Amino acid sequence: CGIVGVLGHNEVAPILVEALKRLEYRGYDSAGIATVNRGRLDRRRAVGKLVNLSDLLVHEPLAGKAGIGHTRWATHGAATVINAHPHRSGPVAVVHNGIIENFRELRAELAEKGLACETETDTETVALLVRHHMDQGLSPRDAARETLKQLDGAFALLFLFDGEEDLMIAARKGSPLAIGHGQGEMFVGSDAIALAPMTDRITYLEEGDYAFVTRAGVEIFDAAGRRANRDVQKIQLDA
Ligand code: GLU
Repeated sequence: CGIVGVLGHNEVAPILVEALKRLEYRGYDSAGIATVNRGRLDRRRAVGKLVNLSDLLVHEPLAGKAGIGHTRWATHGAATVINAHPHRSGPVAVVHNGIIENFRELRAELAEKGLACETETDTETVALLVRHHMDQGLSPRDAARETLKQLDGAFALLFLFDGEEDLMIAARKGSPLAIGHGQGEMFVGSDAIALAPMTDRITYLEEGDYAFVTRAGVEIFDAAGRRANRDVQKIQLDA
């Protein structure tokens, strides 16, 4: 339901939770974050209010200056910790808004390749596809590109990778995503309002766009894979 991402200078876990709070008004049943710290991808998830996630993070902190977060409004699979985002398979973690319409077919194809789903969600198939492509030797960028071609439905996606502290990959198809520009920091949000305390410089992805985000900036591609120029807008929001 809500997506945030930060490539920052400081510890991101509290920043991600704050940003998710700004999306609480949209409703959700569970929440989670993933970070990369010293090259290692890890995650924490909790059912119910964000305070449950904050409490968990007190007992099991998550360090790292790169991270993604999610508030989930379940469409496929009960509101449980296992089904909460970020979903992870091998080197990739993903947060997702919306629905992957062809997830049953994808799940069957993945099972034939020996990659079994552990959750009831449509989202997990996305993580498994990226993992599969990386197992075949593709880079994170190429694996994400290949995966996006395989997905039907309306969605926004944000990926984070093991061993990659300066990369997030975002994709928009039917569900909005905004890229926020900081000073040597970059942000992603399903709603610019989530990013208001961090930046007022926003680039909205257009339908079908995907983006490679690093601290140095963002490279955006259209649905056909061509480099796309999207404006940076100065927005007025109450921080
Ligand atoms: N379809 C996904 C799920 O049920 C994402 C739902 C959402 O947008 O929060 O996990």
